[in-house]
Amino acid sequence: MDLYDYKKLLDKVYEKIPENVKQSARFEIPKVEIRIESKNTFITNLNKILNTLNRDKKHFMGIFLKKAGTMGEIRGQQLFLKGQYKEQVLNRLIENYTKTYVLCNICNKPDTQIQREGKKYYLKCTACGARQEIKEK
Ligand SMILES: [Zn+2]
Repeated sequence: MDLYDYKKLLDKVYEKIPENVKQSARFEIPKVEIRIESKNTFITNLNKILNTLNRDKKHFMGIFLKKAGTMGEIRGQQLFLKGQYKEQVLNRLIENYTKTYVLCNICNKPDTQIQREGKKYYLKCTACGARQEIKEK
C-alpha cells in the first residue's frame, strides 16, 4: 500500500467516527502514580501529568508544593515529596491547579497560556479568546 492509499484509508476511518467522539478527545489529567520510600513520596509519572497540563515545571512545582505544604524537588523523571501522601490528596491538588491555571473559565478547554502583566497573571484561552485574571483559590 502506498502512502496515498494509507492516508485515504485514515480519512475514511476518521469519517466514520461520530462527531461527538472526535470532539471529546477529552481532557483528562492522568492520575498520579506514586511510590512511597522511607516515608517520602515519589510521583513517578510527573512528566506525563505536566505534558497533559502543558505547563512549565517550575510554575507547577511552586504552586503544588505550597499547596501540599511540604518540600520537594524534581529527581530525574520523578517528583520527590517529603512526607507520605495519599494518591487522592495529590490528585485533588493537581485538579485544583488545573482549574485555576489551565482550564478556561469560559469554555472549560485546556488550550490556554499564562500571560504576565506587571504583577498580575492572566489565563489566555486560544480556543475561545477569553482572557481572565488568574485568582488563586
Ligand atoms: Zn476558552
